[in-house]
Amino acid sequence: MRKLLLLCVVLALGLPVKAYVVSGYFWDTGVGTFHVAIPGTAPSGISWNDAFKQAMDSWSSIANFQYLLATDAVDPCSGQMNGGFGDGVTSVDFRDTACGMDFGTNTLAITLSSGTCVAKCEGDDRVRLTDADILFRSDENWSVYNGPRKSGVNDFRRVALHELGHALGLRHSSDPPSIMESFVSSVETLQSDDIAGITSIYGDAPAALTLSKSIYDIAVTIPVKTTLPGPTDSFSLNGQLTNTDNKFNNRFIDIYQYTFANDSDVTLRLQSASFDSFLYLARINSGQELLSDYLFADNDSGWGKNSELKKTIPAGTYWVGVSTALSNATGFYDLRVDASSVGTNAPPVTYLSTYGASIQINPNPSIAGLLKADDFMFGDKFLDLIQFELATPTTLRIALTAAAFDPVLMLARVVPGSTPAANLVDESSLLLDDNGGGGTDALLQQTLAAGTYWLGVTSRNAFATGSYQIDSTVVVP
Ligand SMILES: [Zn+2]
Repeated sequence: MRKLLLLCVVLALGLPVKAYVVSGYFWDTGVGTFHVAIPGTAPSGISWNDAFKQAMDSWSSIANFQYLLATDAVDPCSGQMNGGFGDGVTSVDFRDTACGMDFGTNTLAITLSSGTCVAKCEGDDRVRLTDADILFRSDENWSVYNGPRKSGVNDFRRVALHELGHALGLRHSSDPPSIMESFVSSVETLQSDDIAGITSIYGDAPAALTLSKSIYDIAVTIPVKTTLPGPTDSFSLNGQLTNTDNKFNNRFIDIYQYTFANDSDVTLRLQSASFDSFLYLARINSGQELLSDYLFADNDSGWGKNSELKKTIPAGTYWVGVSTALSNATGFYDLRVDASSVGTNAPPVTYLSTYGASIQINPNPSIAGLLKADDFMFGDKFLDLIQFELATPTTLRIALTAAAFDPVLMLARVVPGSTPAANLVDESSLLLDDNGGGGTDALLQQTLAAGTYWLGVTSRNAFATGSYQIDSTVVVP
């Protein structure tokens, strides 16, 4: 067994190293489970647990590694006293000593890592982690806040982000700006040096899908983890505005697509050292059209020239646009999004059609639904109908997947001009697919005129029930 102690200090104590440094310790499964059950709430109102989980999520999204959360309490010093090798269960808490050792001057927190060496054990070159416990000094003054470092009060979340970097196998970096610098600074999110360090150990995160075009002629990046399931989610990403980016309002822009599964309170922060940032949040419908009731923009609500948006938004699919207030400005940026679910989702608007089936009006391109025994029956099969609108002719690719049953997808246009109370389907326009999506899943791709459409979800077999997922994408040639 090997043991590594990484002390984290307030004042510079850096070794003369360049950029990130790996310790040799690593999680060989690509997954680390942290037990997080810290009592209490920061003076700023956020619980220590939520702040720590946000820091875990930040690391999870950027390399081929995931921190998982366990919420039962485990003493981080269990097995660590007297130079022990831990108890094999990672956890975190405030303590007045570093498991019996003195924290030392200027130390805010410590990560105690233990593992089994697998190669070149003398130099800690390859050590498979078995434990990594994090201790925050309880006699320090802590809170959770954004922006420049405040004197006399430490931001728990950015120190947690730093310690979680140690727990992943990173030592201190002396190439600022980075979260793995040995001292706390105004850096509060992962920087390119941190990302280079973590991907050198675990490899790159699975690649995001980039649509080279949207209906607005602007590329859209769809991250691998594009759906945020709640109840709390956060992610941060680093990017760069370049002069080959598309432009919106004559400014360069990068767009990222996320689906919030729940009605959520969201906070977005966009920071850049090289340009005056400008931030957009916009809900899109199935045809990628922006829904004007949910279109938000901000220039300078963050600290300095940075942007910040705080909104309560309905469940749905959104574009986050990273742009600038000045034409032709380029440079690196970092974006952080924190979301928490607020109660139950507002129910979608429904009405009863002339066919007797209820119609759910749902503009979302991503819909999680459930075929159930009290649904409308179409012969001996259950049927859900979902209505959406297209303002312009659009080529849509609609995928319907279900694990519990063999799904069948239907698509039909509502006769133009018919009122909601008496609307009729144009039967000549009816499209139907059973297994076009591979396996038993369904898929339709069709160029559609502007108008009102119904999507039907049913099953191949009688009386089948279960959850399903619809994902529609606009295909731009
Ligand atoms: Zn440190």
